[in-house]
Amino acid sequence: MARFETALARLEGTESAVAFASGMAALSACLLARGAQGLRHVVAVRPLYGCSDHLLDAGLLGTEVTWVDPAGIAAAIRPDTGLVMVETPANPTLAEVDLRAVARSCGTVPLLADNTFATPVLQRPAERGASAVLHSATKYLGGHGDVMGGVVACDEEFARALRQVRFATGGVLHPLAGYLLLRGLSTLPVRMRAASATAAELARRLAADPRVARVHYPRIGGAMVAFETHGDPHAVIAGVRLITPAVSLGSVDTLIQHPASISHRIVAEGDRHSSGIGDRLLRMSVGLEDVEDVWRDLDQALDGGPAGRGAHRARPAAHGDVPAGVSASAAAGGPVPVPGPGGR
Ligand SMILES: *Cc1c(COP(=O)(O)O)cnc(C)c1O
Repeated sequence: MARFETALARLEGTESAVAFASGMAALSACLLARGAQGLRHVVAVRPLYGCSDHLLDAGLLGTEVTWVDPAGIAAAIRPDTGLVMVETPANPTLAEVDLRAVARSCGTVPLLADNTFATPVLQRPAERGASAVLHSATKYLGGHGDVMGGVVACDEEFARALRQVRFATGGVLHPLAGYLLLRGLSTLPVRMRAASATAAELARRLAADPRVARVHYPRIGGAMVAFETHGDPHAVIAGVRLITPAVSLGSVDTLIQHPASISHRIVAEGDRHSSGIGDRLLRMSVGLEDVEDVWRDLDQALDGGPAGRGAHRARPAAHGDVPAGVSASAAAGGPVPVPGPGGR
């Protein structure tokens, strides 16, 4: 675990890092550590990962949240504000915030940036003024959908407070998970680059496709693509064959899910809509399969799956009829479901 923490701190460019049993345990520790100092107020920007939104909104850990747009951060800060929290690119809309500008509006209040989607390969929030960088290590850091963990990269002073909470509340990373996460880091840049190249190409094709109303793909890139369909988004999910309908993300296999009914179901409908999470939005975590294989599957799913094949438009296959390849993990039986209480 210590070696994973040291490696992650170096990747994020921070003094220290503290690992936890999950991303949610890591966020809980941040809130508890600040709350213990009497700083229970949090200013946060939507959208956030569904459970992060819920944890803040429900005040389960004694925190009180003020939801704002990035432009409203400075005005929302109070004497008891302990944290400003943003996620960029955000789950699930991939909306980006300007971290430098946000950090400036925080003044002396620490800025916590969830960097799960970008990873330090694409973005290092501490260089842009974030005081603490949060990861669900369950996602890209582990990278194979078979380990749960979380980590906060920060200065040593905040790290000490986080370790104290971790010690007292039991959100400790399992040693085997620490081993798997450290091993995952050694392939992180290669996985991120490969999956991002595929995701960027899929985003380009989706954006040019008349069956798709809108595509969300971050300027900084990454392996997540979100898109809105003209038709029933559930029909697309029902139609995929190679892509796995599943929550979580950041694994070697391409996963697709419907945020409004799965990962962000716990967020109230009005709050979902006002933060851009529409009912036709689909979120796709692009894996390491060949881009042509994923596209072929998406293409037929957008036509309504195998049942809708009669309506399938003729398309020139980029590489003829030769299957472009199957990912090693699909050949080994597909993704391993990540255990957990709810949608990730
Ligand atoms: C999954 C996720 C979390 C929560 O992490 P767990 O490891 O599943 O507890 C937090 N933030 C983001 C952006 C996530 O995608």
